[in-house]
Amino acid sequence: MFDKILIANRGEIALRIQRACKELGISTVAIHSTADEDAMHVRLADESVCIGPPPANKSYLNIPEIMAACEITGANAVHPGYGFLSENARFAEILEDHKIAFIGPSAEHIRLMGDKITAKDTVKKLGIPVVPGSDGEITCEKEALKIARKIGFPVIVKAAAGGGGRGMKVAATEKDLPIAISTAKTESKAAFGDDALYLEKYLGKPRHIEVQVIGDGRGHAVHLGERDCSLQRRHQKVWEEAPSPALNSEERTKIGNIVAKAIGDLKYRGAGTIEFLYENGEFYFIEMNTRLQVEHPVTEMITGLDLVIEQIRVAAGAPLSFTQEDIVLRGHAIECRINAENARTFMPSPGKINYFHPPGGLGVRVDSGVYQGYSIPPYYDSLIGKLIVHGKTRNECMMRLRRALSEFVIDGIDTTIPLFVDLLNEPDIINGAYDIHWLEKYLEKNK
Ligand code: ADP
Repeated sequence: MFDKILIANRGEIALRIQRACKELGISTVAIHSTADEDAMHVRLADESVCIGPPPANKSYLNIPEIMAACEITGANAVHPGYGFLSENARFAEILEDHKIAFIGPSAEHIRLMGDKITAKDTVKKLGIPVVPGSDGEITCEKEALKIARKIGFPVIVKAAAGGGGRGMKVAATEKDLPIAISTAKTESKAAFGDDALYLEKYLGKPRHIEVQVIGDGRGHAVHLGERDCSLQRRHQKVWEEAPSPALNSEERTKIGNIVAKAIGDLKYRGAGTIEFLYENGEFYFIEMNTRLQVEHPVTEMITGLDLVIEQIRVAAGAPLSFTQEDIVLRGHAIECRINAENARTFMPSPGKINYFHPPGGLGVRVDSGVYQGYSIPPYYDSLIGKLIVHGKTRNECMMRLRRALSEFVIDGIDTTIPLFVDLLNEPDIINGAYDIHWLEKYLEKNK
């Protein structure tokens, strides 16, 4: 087992990883930019190293500085969290070359899944259902039109290198296709330095349902059920829940087993998420994330497992401590992403937190990196915390969530807490009857 882990991240996820390390008796090294000297992840770590100025490309994405921090502190593993370098195959390779473990999958698997065209092709061969579309890159408009006609409009043009909802354009009819292709191309080139595109059938009213998996790298993989992340704004998840209100237990077992078998066959190591769109009882793969996800706590709440501890264990070469038969899903969990943003306009709201009172009580978990008196710097993602609530049933979970939100006080900045209070009064939310467009439509109506 590792004796010292460097956490190449900040905010709530850096703290989350520290907690797992502490429980395993592993020392922690925090890295931070000059903007994060007072951050809680720095305060609570055993050691910390300042690695550069505020912009992420000079600090949290600065591989040479992070390697130097590993060297100085003698860390023998790195946990990348999510975002930043978590899906950077080159970073995983460099660490490997320096005999430092990357707590995540092999560089080869990160690369395979990082390109959405090869990812789709790979999982299709492993028996996972995918969205009908072009088999591979579209090379010219004429060919794209031919494929689009075959699958039927509307279609969506997507960037092979895409992420964060960028490089995607919908073409409702034939005449929209050329412009969708050229805008997606320009956007993808600018954002990712790559303009390879592919085409998919555009699903009208799907839900976003993803399956959590973990593999030992030797062929044993287990699924931990699904999460429903359909409530999205600009393709960004806002609220996540497990289990999905849309699935029955046969559907859950069926898709879970397909995914676990595929991931085992791939000899995948570590935690990963297979994301699907789900419509009319069918699952369609969209992408795989080869890392821990923001919404992993809802899975932890219903399985009782600590996903970060399991990630660390398999990265150290240990087998999984459980089999599929050991996994029992209990009750229901919902996560609300608390952003430092105005709940109506979504304008970022960095600044000083004058008063901070998190909720507590049975079934309530708050993962956050902020504290009273802390100043949120303007340089990073606006996620400042997550409220995760568990209940025996979805109803109990929502009652508890309503209660927890009413206790939550964050004063001095705007947060998205009022949005969740409002959502809990919506019949569609109460009934679990929402698709990936529901939230955008709701926000438009309630502007
Ligand atoms: P990214 O990596 O940029 O997040 P994804 O492929 O995961 O891109 O897609 C993000 C979101 O875009 C999905 O959750 C869904 O809301 C929408 N989307 C993607 N593909 C399709 C599709 N074929 N039909 C309808 N919506 C889609």
